Amino acid sequence: MVKMKKLLFIALIVFYGCEEAPKQEPTFGIVIHGGAGTILKKNMTPEREAEYRAVLAEAIQVGHQILKAGGSSQEAVEKTIHVMEDSPLFNSGKGAVLNAEGTIELDASFMNGADLNAGAISGVRTVKHPISAAIKVMENSPHVMLSGKGADQFASEQGLEIVSPEYFLTERRINSLKRVQEAAKAKETSWAPEERNFLKNQRYGTVGCVALDLSGNLAAGTSTGGMTNKKWNRIGDAPIIGAGTYANNATCAISATGWGEFFIRSVVAYDISALMEYKGMTIQEAAYEVIHNKMAKLGGDGGVVGIDRNGNPMMEMNTPGMYRAHMDAEGNLEVKIYQDE
Ligand code: ASP
Repeated sequence: MVKMKKLLFIALIVFYGCEEAPKQEPTFGIVIHGGAGTILKKNMTPEREAEYRAVLAEAIQVGHQILKAGGSSQEAVEKTIHVMEDSPLFNSGKGAVLNAEGTIELDASFMNGADLNAGAISGVRTVKHPISAAIKVMENSPHVMLSGKGADQFASEQGLEIVSPEYFLTERRINSLKRVQEAAKAKETSWAPEERNFLKNQRYGTVGCVALDLSGNLAAGTSTGGMTNKKWNRIGDAPIIGAGTYANNATCAISATGWGEFFIRSVVAYDISALMEYKGMTIQEAAYEVIHNKMAKLGGDGGVVGIDRNGNPMMEMNTPGMYRAHMDAEGNLEVKIYQDE
């Protein structure tokens, strides 16, 4: 009898030992940003702060509803970014920053984690929703990246909404450009520290979104006007796959914002994924490593948002603030602006 019990016990151990590790229940989640920089409470009015929080909440809920209904991470990212592209608060779509000629040149990129398919556009002037143009490049062209007039033409041929370049202009950005150009003329020598800070922050407000859907597919998208007073068709990290945007179902989805030149040199978005893939780091560890121990050490600043294949969110920055929000499958919403929130 004792022997029988012993045998039964061993059989049970063998049975449970051989059983596969419990599979993770399908889940979903979404994280967004609206730019990183020297965003300080003392420089913000309560009304302005409330406006930012409201648009962030509105945008993320659009994507959350799509995901909750079983929609794709691609659709969630696209529709969420549309809300921020339409808002004059952010440096993307309407309200984008102006180049040295006083007009806009918009950049955007998108990537799917399921098949590593991607699309990007840079320097467009007439596409109302640049993120959709990036998605069309991915879906309906043999290319990954289109630029300038050709990209505008492609977007129009694809039936995307086309507007005149004036649609994007806002008083706020016109004034910012004036101040930056005056400062450039004065060679910044007579500028007070607050004014220098103002100048340094004229690039911020890029938008981005990452999402995990119920089918386990990750997607990432980023959309920006780039930097105020940019010349020579300068292109930042936002439309560059691997720098500003990256998604891979094996690891995570990432969207970046900040001083683009440093994000390109640090290959920020791909590097985070690679540290997870090859070194087994968590998304949080990988993002910390790349932002603080790599990009910041080169002299850059900015932030990233991400989500991993299990739905764990990440928001990391080396700036005093980043407009950001996260929503999990249960519908818990967090909207944050300052670093120490
Ligand atoms: N990364 C963008 C660029 O360099 C700007 C930003 O994110 O604020 O064009």
